[in-house]
Amino acid sequence: FGFGNGNYAIRKVAEQLLFVIGHDYEIFKYGGDSFVVLSKKTYRKEDLHKFDASLVESALLSPRHFDIVINSVKWSLTASLGSAIFNPQGQSFESIINVIEQAVKRAKKSAPFGLCHISEDGFKEFDRYLDIKSKLEQAIESDELSIVLQPQVTHDGTVSSFEALVRWYSKELGPVSPGEFIPIAEESYAICEIGDIVLRKTLSVISNFVKSGLKTSIAINISARQIVVPDFINSLLSRVNQYGIPPHMLMLELTETALVVDIELVKETMLELARFGFRFSIDDFGTGYSSLAYLKVLPISELKIDKYFVDDIGKDFDGKAAQIVDAIIEMAKALNVTCIAEGVESEEQLKYLIGKGCEKFQGYYFSRPEPEAHWAGINENTKLP
Ligand code: C2E
Ligand code: CA
Ligand code: CA
Repeated sequence: FGFGNGNYAIRKVAEQLLFVIGHDYEIFKYGGDSFVVLSKKTYRKEDLHKFDASLVESALLSPRHFDIVINSVKWSLTASLGSAIFNPQGQSFESIINVIEQAVKRAKKSAPFGLCHISEDGFKEFDRYLDIKSKLEQAIESDELSIVLQPQVTHDGTVSSFEALVRWYSKELGPVSPGEFIPIAEESYAICEIGDIVLRKTLSVISNFVKSGLKTSIAINISARQIVVPDFINSLLSRVNQYGIPPHMLMLELTETALVVDIELVKETMLELARFGFRFSIDDFGTGYSSLAYLKVLPISELKIDKYFVDDIGKDFDGKAAQIVDAIIEMAKALNVTCIAEGVESEEQLKYLIGKGCEKFQGYYFSRPEPEAHWAGINENTKLP
């Protein structure tokens, strides 16, 4: 709507904040579309739990305040709020702003109207975040990343494929879990470099497997950010050609969240890759927001039931998790794709899943992810556990 209307909207928000907030706070404009709200109240350490940002929240997060009129049309604005408590003596302006920006970034994940409060520990957490972010660059350059392979088996335990999972043993930080560093890598191009490292290592494993007579496919995880890079298709193609691996031996795992980043672009990319023979698995199925109408038109060959649902099999008293599992298996059948369950840890879960018609399984019950050397000597008849 142009700068003029943008300024108008921001001024309206500012008025609203001033009106609701009163004397306990000061407000500053910070950046293009953000405000810093500073509480001037002092808290003793033991009273910290009494702090609440409810005033700010009610100003920002109640949608009725955010209707604004532009060119006689009413629009609704949304906002997210990150907050932190700090001792101004102990922290520099930069570190405070950094922590607040982290809080806002997290809050925005549950946008519209996200909230995130960072406690005192948040500052320590932020140091760790910076540590990982900077050391990750070195890790990529100095080859500290490796992969482990977790088998995927059929109903009788026959190993039919693997998932490659990245591992980072940092010289300075020790082992760092992908759950911690992948989201940080995803904030920058680092995720694409990691993706390429994992791809090369995986292709090298496939090539070694083939040499030893084992024709098995390996799944790799593709981040949302990777798939929208214009070069993605070509870089994949040139890598499989370089290693002489037919594309159908690679399964590309995309989360539902990755699908919806730019759904038209993602769809085109997937269709093109599928024409070359690459296959796709939808990871963490049931935890994202993918449209069922869309699933129908995407070239998917597998749905992966998230560990979250598998965990609850036999544990939940109302049977809801099990019903969701049933529904996903039925959906896989309707879409005519393979169904695989991840995070299978017990015989009870396995029996339930087999009973419902799930075709493939992955989890500690069969094997933890292990380095390539561990899998030397397996063949088409290897059964687990
Ligand atoms: P994911 O893709 O959902 O991977 C499954 C995770 O569950 C893995 O954790 C795996 O080790 C763990 N797991 C497998 N079976 C069991 C089980 O029976 N019980 C339990 N408790 N856990 C099980 P990991 O390796 O820590 O990876 C965590 C996440 O990090 C992955 O979730 C994936 O989102 C991301 N990730 C891992 N490697 C890569 C990668 O190469 N590229 C990208 N983009 N993301 C990766
Ligand atoms: Ca995965
Ligand atoms: Ca998963």
